Amino acid sequence: MLITDVQVAGLPRLVDVRCVEGRIAEVGPSLRRSARDMVLAGSGAALLPGLHDHHMHLMALAALRNSVQCGPPDVSDRAQLDRTLRADQADGWLRGVGYHESVAGDLDRRQLDRIRSDRPLKIQHRSGKLWMVNSLAADLLSLDLNAGLPGIELDATGRPSGRLFRLDGWMREQLGQEGPVSMPSLAGVSRLLASFGVTGVTDATPDNDCFAMAHFASAAASGELLQSVRVMGNQALPESGCAQVQRAERKVMLDENALPQWDELLAIFADAHRAGRAVAVHCVTPAELVLALSVLRAAGSHPCDRIEHASLVPDDVLPLLREVGVRVVTQPGFIHERGDQYLHGVAPAEHGELYRCNTLLAHGIRLAGSTDAPYGNPDPWAAMRAAVDRRSRAGIALGQAEQLSPEQALALFTSAADDPGGASRTIAVGEVADMCLLNCTWHEARLRLCSANVRATLREGRLIYQREQGKEMRRFDATVAA
Ligand SMILES: [Zn+2]
Repeated sequence: MLITDVQVAGLPRLVDVRCVEGRIAEVGPSLRRSARDMVLAGSGAALLPGLHDHHMHLMALAALRNSVQCGPPDVSDRAQLDRTLRADQADGWLRGVGYHESVAGDLDRRQLDRIRSDRPLKIQHRSGKLWMVNSLAADLLSLDLNAGLPGIELDATGRPSGRLFRLDGWMREQLGQEGPVSMPSLAGVSRLLASFGVTGVTDATPDNDCFAMAHFASAAASGELLQSVRVMGNQALPESGCAQVQRAERKVMLDENALPQWDELLAIFADAHRAGRAVAVHCVTPAELVLALSVLRAAGSHPCDRIEHASLVPDDVLPLLREVGVRVVTQPGFIHERGDQYLHGVAPAEHGELYRCNTLLAHGIRLAGSTDAPYGNPDPWAAMRAAVDRRSRAGIALGQAEQLSPEQALALFTSAADDPGGASRTIAVGEVADMCLLNCTWHEARLRLCSANVRATLREGRLIYQREQGKEMRRFDATVAA
Protein backbone atom coordinates (compact mmCIF):
# COMPACT_ATOMS: atom_id res chain seq x y z
CA MET A 1 0.00 0.00 0.00
CA LEU A 2 1.35 3.39 -1.03
CA ILE A 3 -0.29 6.63 0.09
CA THR A 4 0.89 9.46 -2.08
CA ASP A 5 1.27 13.21 -1.59
CA VAL A 6 0.24 13.58 2.01
CA GLN A 7 0.95 16.16 4.64
CA VAL A 8 2.65 14.64 7.69
CA ALA A 9 3.13 16.64 10.89
CA GLY A 10 6.71 17.84 11.27
CA LEU A 11 7.69 17.36 7.62
CA PRO A 12 8.15 20.46 5.46
CA ARG A 13 6.72 19.09 2.21
CA LEU A 14 4.34 16.47 0.86
CA VAL A 15 5.51 12.88 1.12
CA ASP A 16 4.51 9.38 0.10
CA VAL A 17 4.05 6.71 2.77
CA ARG A 18 4.58 3.02 2.05
CA CYS A 19 3.17 0.30 4.33
CA VAL A 20 4.59 -3.20 4.30
CA GLU A 21 3.33 -6.01 6.50
CA GLY A 22 1.38 -3.76 8.80
CA ARG A 23 4.12 -1.20 9.41
CA ILE A 24 5.28 2.02 7.85
CA ALA A 25 8.24 1.00 5.71
CA GLU A 26 9.11 4.23 3.89
CA VAL A 27 8.28 7.92 4.19
CA GLY A 28 9.63 10.41 1.65
CA PRO A 29 8.86 12.55 -1.36
CA SER A 30 8.00 10.74 -4.60
CA LEU A 31 8.74 7.16 -3.55
CA ARG A 32 9.33 4.74 -6.41
CA ARG A 33 6.22 2.84 -7.45
CA SER A 34 5.81 -0.63 -8.75
CA ALA A 35 2.98 -2.34 -10.55
CA ARG A 36 2.23 -4.28 -7.37
CA ASP A 37 1.46 -1.17 -5.30
CA MET A 38 -2.07 -0.38 -4.25
CA VAL A 39 -2.11 3.42 -4.37
CA LEU A 40 -4.24 5.76 -2.31
CA ALA A 41 -3.87 9.30 -3.63
CA GLY A 42 -3.52 11.72 -0.74
CA SER A 43 -3.79 14.80 -2.99
CA GLY A 44 -2.08 17.05 -0.47
CA ALA A 45 -4.33 16.17 2.49
CA ALA A 46 -3.18 15.44 6.03
CA LEU A 47 -2.27 11.90 7.10
CA LEU A 48 -2.69 11.44 10.87
CA PRO A 49 -2.02 8.56 13.21
CA GLY A 50 -5.21 6.47 13.58
CA LEU A 51 -7.33 7.57 16.53
CA HIS A 52 -7.55 5.51 19.70
CA ASP A 53 -10.62 5.93 21.88
CA HIS A 54 -9.16 5.28 25.32
CA HIS A 55 -12.43 4.51 27.11
CA MET A 56 -15.65 3.26 25.59
CA HIS A 57 -18.02 0.30 25.67
CA LEU A 58 -18.32 -1.57 22.38
CA MET A 59 -21.08 -4.02 23.20
CA ALA A 60 -23.23 -1.41 24.94
CA LEU A 61 -22.77 0.78 21.86
CA ALA A 62 -23.88 -2.11 19.65
CA ALA A 63 -26.91 -2.75 21.88
CA LEU A 64 -27.78 0.94 21.75
CA ARG A 65 -28.58 0.58 18.09
CA ASN A 66 -31.62 -1.46 19.20
CA SER A 67 -32.66 0.96 21.93
CA VAL A 68 -34.96 3.92 22.47
CA GLN A 69 -33.38 7.21 23.61
CA CYS A 70 -35.05 8.34 26.86
CA GLY A 71 -33.00 11.37 27.81
CA PRO A 72 -31.84 14.80 26.68
CA PRO A 73 -31.60 16.11 24.06
CA ASP A 74 -34.01 13.67 22.33
CA VAL A 75 -36.41 13.47 25.27
CA SER A 76 -36.66 16.26 27.81
CA ASP A 77 -39.99 15.90 29.60
CA ARG A 78 -42.56 13.39 30.81
CA ALA A 79 -44.91 13.79 27.85
CA GLN A 80 -42.10 13.17 25.37
CA LEU A 81 -40.93 10.14 27.34
CA ASP A 82 -44.43 8.63 27.30
CA ARG A 83 -44.84 9.32 23.59
CA THR A 84 -41.46 7.87 22.68
CA LEU A 85 -41.89 4.66 24.66
CA ARG A 86 -45.48 4.14 23.50
CA ALA A 87 -44.47 4.62 19.86
CA ASP A 88 -42.30 1.47 19.79
CA GLN A 89 -44.43 -1.24 18.20
CA ALA A 90 -42.04 -4.19 18.20
CA ASP A 91 -42.44 -7.30 20.39
CA GLY A 92 -40.55 -8.48 23.43
CA TRP A 93 -38.30 -6.38 25.59
CA LEU A 94 -38.39 -2.62 25.17
CA ARG A 95 -35.01 -1.15 26.05
CA GLY A 96 -34.63 2.54 26.86
CA VAL A 97 -31.30 4.27 27.42
CA GLY A 98 -29.86 7.65 28.35
CA TYR A 99 -32.43 8.50 31.02
CA HIS A 100 -31.80 11.43 33.35
CA GLU A 101 -33.93 12.68 36.27
CA SER A 102 -34.38 16.03 34.52
CA VAL A 103 -36.89 14.24 32.23
CA ALA A 104 -39.41 12.94 34.79
CA GLY A 105 -37.69 12.50 38.16
CA ASP A 106 -36.81 9.11 39.69
CA LEU A 107 -38.70 6.39 37.81
CA ASP A 108 -39.95 3.22 39.49
CA ARG A 109 -41.97 0.21 38.35
CA ARG A 110 -45.36 1.79 39.08
CA GLN A 111 -44.61 4.83 36.96
CA LEU A 112 -43.25 2.65 34.15
CA ASP A 113 -46.35 0.43 34.32
CA ARG A 114 -48.43 3.51 33.56
CA ILE A 115 -46.38 4.10 30.41
CA ARG A 116 -46.14 0.48 29.16
CA SER A 117 -47.63 -2.55 30.86
CA ASP A 118 -47.94 -4.70 27.73
CA ARG A 119 -44.23 -5.41 27.27
CA PRO A 120 -41.29 -5.86 29.62
CA LEU A 121 -39.61 -2.45 29.78
CA LYS A 122 -36.18 -1.59 31.09
CA ILE A 123 -34.66 1.87 31.03
CA GLN A 124 -31.01 2.55 31.73
CA HIS A 125 -29.88 5.70 33.51
CA ARG A 126 -27.38 7.61 31.42
CA SER A 127 -24.71 7.05 34.10
CA GLY A 128 -24.90 3.36 33.18
CA LYS A 129 -25.21 2.28 36.80
CA LEU A 130 -28.99 2.08 37.20
CA TRP A 131 -31.75 0.18 35.42
CA MET A 132 -35.44 0.99 36.00
CA VAL A 133 -37.91 -1.76 35.08
CA ASN A 134 -41.71 -2.12 34.90
CA SER A 135 -43.62 -4.92 36.64
CA LEU A 136 -43.57 -7.32 33.68
CA ALA A 137 -39.79 -7.00 33.57
CA ALA A 138 -39.59 -7.29 37.36
CA ASP A 139 -41.45 -10.62 37.13
CA LEU A 140 -39.15 -11.94 34.40
CA LEU A 141 -36.19 -10.97 36.58
CA SER A 142 -37.83 -12.54 39.70
CA LEU A 143 -37.15 -9.32 41.59
CA ASP A 144 -39.55 -10.13 44.42
CA LEU A 145 -37.77 -13.44 45.09
CA ASN A 146 -34.41 -11.65 45.18
CA ALA A 147 -35.48 -8.64 47.25
CA GLY A 148 -32.52 -9.03 49.62
CA LEU A 149 -29.86 -8.76 46.92
CA PRO A 150 -27.68 -5.64 47.31
CA GLY A 151 -28.45 -3.29 44.44
CA ILE A 152 -32.18 -4.08 44.33
CA GLU A 153 -33.84 -1.00 45.78
CA LEU A 154 -36.85 -1.54 48.04
CA ASP A 155 -39.81 0.82 48.35
CA ALA A 156 -41.43 1.95 51.63
CA THR A 157 -43.36 -1.33 51.87
CA GLY A 158 -40.20 -3.42 51.51
CA ARG A 159 -41.00 -4.50 47.97
CA PRO A 160 -38.51 -4.05 45.06
CA SER A 161 -39.15 -0.62 43.56
CA GLY A 162 -38.00 -1.66 40.10
CA ARG A 163 -34.70 0.24 40.44
CA LEU A 164 -31.55 -1.90 40.11
CA PHE A 165 -28.08 -0.54 40.78
CA ARG A 166 -25.02 -2.04 39.08
CA LEU A 167 -26.67 -5.38 38.43
CA ASP A 168 -26.08 -5.77 34.68
CA GLY A 169 -24.36 -9.15 35.02
CA TRP A 170 -27.02 -10.45 37.42
CA MET A 171 -29.81 -9.28 35.11
CA ARG A 172 -28.27 -11.17 32.20
CA GLU A 173 -28.02 -14.30 34.34
CA GLN A 174 -31.62 -14.01 35.48
CA LEU A 175 -32.78 -13.76 31.89
CA GLY A 176 -30.58 -16.63 30.73
CA GLN A 177 -28.71 -14.20 28.51
CA GLU A 178 -25.26 -14.81 29.91
CA GLY A 179 -22.78 -16.31 27.54
CA PRO A 180 -22.02 -15.53 23.93
CA VAL A 181 -25.51 -16.19 22.55
CA SER A 182 -26.91 -12.76 23.40
CA MET A 183 -23.83 -10.74 22.50
CA PRO A 184 -24.60 -8.18 19.80
CA SER A 185 -22.85 -8.08 16.45
CA LEU A 186 -20.03 -5.55 16.46
CA ALA A 187 -19.93 -5.11 12.68
CA GLY A 188 -22.06 -1.96 12.52
CA VAL A 189 -20.39 -0.06 15.34
CA SER A 190 -16.98 -1.09 14.15
CA ARG A 191 -17.69 0.31 10.67
CA LEU A 192 -19.04 3.49 12.26
CA LEU A 193 -15.88 3.95 14.34
CA ALA A 194 -13.70 3.31 11.30
CA SER A 195 -15.53 6.13 9.50
CA PHE A 196 -14.32 8.45 12.30
CA GLY A 197 -10.70 7.38 11.75
CA VAL A 198 -10.68 5.16 14.83
CA THR A 199 -8.19 2.29 14.55
CA GLY A 200 -8.26 1.16 18.17
CA VAL A 201 -10.40 1.30 21.28
CA THR A 202 -10.08 0.44 24.94
CA ASP A 203 -13.24 -1.25 26.17
CA ALA A 204 -13.69 -0.11 29.78
CA THR A 205 -16.68 -2.28 30.69
CA PRO A 206 -16.14 -3.45 34.28
CA ASP A 207 -17.98 -6.75 33.92
CA ASN A 208 -16.21 -7.92 30.77
CA ASP A 209 -15.76 -11.65 31.37
CA CYS A 210 -14.53 -14.71 29.50
CA PHE A 211 -17.64 -14.63 27.28
CA ALA A 212 -17.06 -11.01 26.35
CA MET A 213 -13.41 -11.75 25.63
CA ALA A 214 -14.37 -14.71 23.43
CA HIS A 215 -16.89 -12.53 21.61
CA PHE A 216 -14.27 -9.85 20.86
CA ALA A 217 -11.80 -12.51 19.70
CA SER A 218 -14.30 -14.19 17.39
CA ALA A 219 -15.40 -10.81 16.00
CA ALA A 220 -11.75 -10.10 15.24
CA ALA A 221 -11.27 -13.50 13.62
CA SER A 222 -14.38 -13.15 11.46
CA GLY A 223 -13.29 -9.69 10.30
CA GLU A 224 -16.35 -7.88 11.65
CA LEU A 225 -14.21 -6.11 14.26
CA LEU A 226 -12.00 -3.69 12.35
CA GLN A 227 -10.20 -2.02 15.26
CA SER A 228 -7.67 -3.38 17.68
CA VAL A 229 -9.27 -3.61 21.10
CA ARG A 230 -7.89 -3.50 24.63
CA VAL A 231 -10.33 -5.12 27.03
CA MET A 232 -10.60 -4.12 30.67
CA GLY A 233 -12.36 -6.33 33.17
CA ASN A 234 -12.00 -8.00 36.51
CA GLN A 235 -9.12 -10.03 37.94
CA ALA A 236 -10.40 -13.24 36.34
CA LEU A 237 -10.52 -11.85 32.79
CA PRO A 238 -8.49 -14.22 30.59
CA GLU A 239 -6.11 -13.32 27.76
CA SER A 240 -7.80 -13.44 24.36
CA GLY A 241 -5.25 -15.53 22.49
CA CYS A 242 -5.41 -13.17 19.52
CA ALA A 243 -3.14 -10.22 18.77
CA GLN A 244 -5.91 -7.85 17.76
CA VAL A 245 -7.63 -8.17 21.15
CA GLN A 246 -5.52 -7.57 24.25
CA ARG A 247 -6.38 -7.91 27.90
CA ALA A 248 -6.02 -4.52 29.57
CA GLU A 249 -6.20 -2.99 33.05
CA ARG A 250 -8.27 -4.30 35.90
CA LYS A 251 -11.31 -2.03 36.12
CA VAL A 252 -12.25 -0.86 39.59
CA MET A 253 -15.56 0.94 40.11
CA LEU A 254 -15.90 3.42 42.96
CA ASP A 255 -19.24 4.80 44.04
CA GLU A 256 -19.30 7.65 46.53
CA ASN A 257 -22.49 6.23 48.11
CA ALA A 258 -20.84 2.93 48.93
CA LEU A 259 -17.09 3.46 49.04
CA PRO A 260 -15.02 0.38 49.93
CA GLN A 261 -12.92 0.21 53.07
CA TRP A 262 -9.31 1.33 52.74
CA ASP A 263 -7.91 -2.19 53.27
CA GLU A 264 -10.34 -3.70 50.80
CA LEU A 265 -9.33 -1.28 48.05
CA LEU A 266 -5.65 -1.60 48.93
CA ALA A 267 -5.92 -5.39 48.53
CA ILE A 268 -7.62 -5.02 45.11
CA PHE A 269 -4.89 -2.69 43.83
CA ALA A 270 -2.08 -4.83 45.30
CA ASP A 271 -3.61 -7.98 43.81
CA ALA A 272 -3.73 -6.50 40.33
CA HIS A 273 -0.22 -5.10 40.58
CA ARG A 274 1.16 -8.44 41.82
CA ALA A 275 -0.36 -10.06 38.73
CA GLY A 276 1.50 -7.50 36.62
CA ARG A 277 -1.67 -5.64 35.76
CA ALA A 278 -2.39 -1.94 36.16
CA VAL A 279 -5.71 -0.68 37.51
CA ALA A 280 -8.20 1.69 35.91
CA VAL A 281 -10.24 3.34 38.62
CA HIS A 282 -13.63 4.89 37.89
CA CYS A 283 -13.65 8.23 39.75
CA VAL A 284 -16.33 10.79 39.08
CA THR A 285 -16.54 12.74 42.36
CA PRO A 286 -13.68 14.36 44.30
CA ALA A 287 -14.26 11.92 47.19
CA GLU A 288 -13.81 8.93 44.87
CA LEU A 289 -10.73 10.52 43.33
CA VAL A 290 -9.08 11.32 46.68
CA LEU A 291 -9.72 7.82 47.99
CA ALA A 292 -8.33 6.17 44.84
CA LEU A 293 -5.23 8.37 44.82
CA SER A 294 -4.57 7.97 48.55
CA VAL A 295 -4.83 4.19 48.38
CA LEU A 296 -2.70 4.07 45.24
CA ARG A 297 -0.06 6.16 46.98
CA ALA A 298 -0.05 3.65 49.83
CA ALA A 299 -0.16 0.58 47.57
CA GLY A 300 2.51 1.88 45.23
CA SER A 301 1.35 2.56 41.69
CA HIS A 302 1.95 0.66 38.46
CA PRO A 303 3.25 2.90 35.64
CA CYS A 304 0.05 2.29 33.67
CA ASP A 305 -2.48 2.91 36.46
CA ARG A 306 -5.20 5.25 35.31
CA ILE A 307 -8.11 7.27 36.58
CA GLU A 308 -11.22 7.04 34.41
CA HIS A 309 -13.24 10.26 34.05
CA ALA A 310 -11.83 12.46 36.86
CA SER A 311 -15.01 14.44 36.21
CA LEU A 312 -14.40 16.94 39.02
CA VAL A 313 -10.83 17.77 40.03
CA PRO A 314 -10.56 20.47 42.73
CA ASP A 315 -7.33 22.50 42.73
CA ASP A 316 -6.16 21.01 46.02
CA VAL A 317 -6.16 17.48 44.57
CA LEU A 318 -3.80 18.38 41.72
CA PRO A 319 -0.57 17.88 43.73
CA LEU A 320 -1.69 14.39 44.82
CA LEU A 321 -2.72 13.51 41.27
CA ARG A 322 0.70 14.53 40.06
CA GLU A 323 2.54 12.80 42.89
CA VAL A 324 0.84 9.43 42.35
CA GLY A 325 1.68 9.71 38.65
CA VAL A 326 -1.48 8.14 37.29
CA ARG A 327 -2.83 8.88 33.86
CA VAL A 328 -6.21 10.56 33.51
CA VAL A 329 -8.62 9.41 30.82
CA THR A 330 -11.11 12.23 30.31
CA GLN A 331 -14.29 12.82 28.27
CA PRO A 332 -14.36 16.46 27.18
CA GLY A 333 -17.37 15.63 24.98
CA PHE A 334 -19.55 15.66 28.11
CA ILE A 335 -18.95 19.41 28.42
CA HIS A 336 -20.89 19.77 25.19
CA GLU A 337 -23.37 16.93 25.59
CA ARG A 338 -24.23 17.40 29.27
CA GLY A 339 -23.04 20.96 29.86
CA ASP A 340 -26.52 22.46 30.12
CA GLN A 341 -27.40 19.97 32.86
CA TYR A 342 -24.10 20.60 34.66
CA LEU A 343 -24.98 24.31 34.69
CA HIS A 344 -27.94 23.49 36.90
CA GLY A 345 -26.85 20.31 38.65
CA VAL A 346 -23.28 21.25 39.57
CA ALA A 347 -22.50 24.11 41.98
CA PRO A 348 -21.29 27.19 40.05
CA ALA A 349 -18.04 27.24 42.05
CA GLU A 350 -17.26 23.77 40.62
CA HIS A 351 -17.99 24.51 36.95
CA GLY A 352 -14.31 25.17 36.32
CA GLU A 353 -13.39 21.79 37.83
CA LEU A 354 -15.39 19.72 35.31
CA TYR A 355 -13.44 17.52 32.88
CA ARG A 356 -10.31 19.63 33.25
CA CYS A 357 -7.81 19.37 30.44
CA ASN A 358 -5.47 22.35 30.20
CA THR A 359 -4.77 22.46 33.94
CA LEU A 360 -3.94 18.74 34.06
CA LEU A 361 -1.53 19.08 31.12
CA ALA A 362 0.03 22.16 32.73
CA HIS A 363 0.64 20.09 35.88
CA GLY A 364 2.43 17.43 33.87
CA ILE A 365 -0.35 14.88 34.28
CA ARG A 366 -0.65 12.49 31.34
CA LEU A 367 -4.07 13.06 29.81
CA ALA A 368 -5.81 10.86 27.25
CA GLY A 369 -9.18 11.35 25.56
CA SER A 370 -12.17 9.13 25.10
CA THR A 371 -15.85 9.26 24.27
CA ASP A 372 -17.29 6.83 26.88
CA ALA A 373 -19.67 5.74 24.09
CA PRO A 374 -22.50 4.89 24.25
CA TYR A 375 -22.83 7.18 27.29
CA GLY A 376 -21.22 9.86 25.12
CA ASN A 377 -21.22 10.49 21.37
CA PRO A 378 -18.91 7.86 19.81
CA ASP A 379 -17.40 10.43 17.42
CA PRO A 380 -14.00 11.43 18.85
CA TRP A 381 -13.97 14.55 16.67
CA ALA A 382 -16.99 15.83 18.60
CA ALA A 383 -15.00 15.29 21.81
CA MET A 384 -12.05 17.17 20.31
CA ARG A 385 -14.32 20.08 19.35
CA ALA A 386 -15.67 20.18 22.90
CA ALA A 387 -12.12 20.18 24.30
CA VAL A 388 -11.38 23.25 22.18
CA ASP A 389 -14.72 25.11 22.51
CA ARG A 390 -15.77 24.10 26.04
CA ARG A 391 -19.36 25.02 25.23
CA SER A 392 -22.63 23.28 26.07
CA ARG A 393 -25.21 22.43 23.40
CA ALA A 394 -26.90 25.73 24.24
CA GLY A 395 -23.59 27.48 23.61
CA ILE A 396 -22.81 28.34 27.24
CA ALA A 397 -19.11 28.40 28.12
CA LEU A 398 -17.94 26.01 30.85
CA GLY A 399 -14.43 26.13 32.27
CA GLN A 400 -12.84 28.19 29.51
CA ALA A 401 -9.51 27.98 31.37
CA GLU A 402 -9.47 24.28 30.38
CA GLN A 403 -9.57 24.91 26.62
CA LEU A 404 -7.07 23.02 24.49
CA SER A 405 -5.63 23.90 21.11
CA PRO A 406 -6.83 21.69 18.22
CA GLU A 407 -3.41 19.99 18.24
CA GLN A 408 -3.66 19.21 21.96
CA ALA A 409 -7.22 17.94 21.43
CA LEU A 410 -6.06 15.63 18.62
CA ALA A 411 -3.21 14.38 20.82
CA LEU A 412 -5.77 13.15 23.38
CA PHE A 413 -6.64 10.45 20.82
CA THR A 414 -3.24 9.71 19.29
CA SER A 415 -1.22 8.39 22.23
CA ALA A 416 -0.52 4.67 22.01
CA ALA A 417 -3.25 2.29 23.15
CA ASP A 418 -1.16 1.06 26.08
CA ASP A 419 0.35 4.47 26.86
CA PRO A 420 -2.67 6.76 27.33
CA GLY A 421 -1.53 10.35 27.67
CA GLY A 422 1.98 9.42 26.51
CA ALA A 423 3.65 10.83 23.40
CA SER A 424 1.56 10.96 20.24
CA ARG A 425 2.23 8.22 17.74
CA THR A 426 3.79 9.51 14.54
CA ILE A 427 3.81 8.71 10.84
CA ALA A 428 7.37 7.41 10.75
CA VAL A 429 9.29 4.39 9.54
CA GLY A 430 8.83 1.39 11.82
CA GLU A 431 5.54 2.57 13.35
CA VAL A 432 2.46 0.37 13.11
CA ALA A 433 0.55 1.56 10.02
CA ASP A 434 -2.61 2.66 11.86
CA MET A 435 -3.54 5.86 10.06
CA CYS A 436 -6.30 8.27 9.23
CA LEU A 437 -6.27 10.14 5.92
CA LEU A 438 -8.23 13.40 5.77
CA ASN A 439 -9.73 15.05 2.70
CA CYS A 440 -8.13 18.40 3.49
CA THR A 441 -5.01 19.86 5.04
CA TRP A 442 -4.57 19.97 8.82
CA HIS A 443 -4.64 23.77 8.53
CA GLU A 444 -8.28 23.45 7.36
CA ALA A 445 -9.22 20.45 9.50
CA ARG A 446 -8.10 22.08 12.78
CA LEU A 447 -10.73 24.79 12.35
CA ARG A 448 -13.60 22.28 12.08
CA LEU A 449 -12.41 19.12 13.87
CA CYS A 450 -15.10 17.20 12.02
CA SER A 451 -15.28 13.49 11.22
CA ALA A 452 -16.68 14.42 7.79
CA ASN A 453 -13.07 15.23 6.93
CA VAL A 454 -11.98 11.61 7.37
CA ARG A 455 -11.49 10.11 3.92
CA ALA A 456 -9.86 6.78 4.67
CA THR A 457 -8.78 4.76 7.68
CA LEU A 458 -6.08 2.10 7.70
CA ARG A 459 -5.28 -0.38 10.42
CA GLU A 460 -1.96 -2.15 10.07
CA GLY A 461 -1.72 -0.87 6.52
CA ARG A 462 -5.08 -2.28 5.47
CA LEU A 463 -8.00 -0.07 4.47
CA ILE A 464 -10.82 -0.44 6.97
CA TYR A 465 -12.78 2.55 5.78
CA GLN A 466 -12.89 4.61 2.64
CA ARG A 467 -15.33 7.37 1.83
CA GLU A 468 -16.70 6.98 -1.73
CA GLN A 469 -15.85 3.30 -1.76
CA GLY A 470 -13.85 2.17 -4.75
CA LYS A 471 -13.47 5.60 -6.30
CA GLU A 472 -10.19 6.71 -4.88
CA MET A 473 -8.04 3.67 -4.47
CA ARG A 474 -6.65 2.12 -7.57
CA ARG A 475 -3.75 0.01 -8.65
CA PHE A 476 -0.80 2.08 -9.68
CA ASP A 477 -0.88 2.43 -13.45
CA ALA A 478 2.61 2.85 -14.83
CA THR A 479 1.38 4.12 -18.18
CA VAL A 480 -0.55 7.00 -16.64
CA ALA A 481 2.15 7.87 -14.11
CA ALA A 482 4.82 8.14 -16.75
ZN1 LIG B 1 -17.37 4.16 30.81
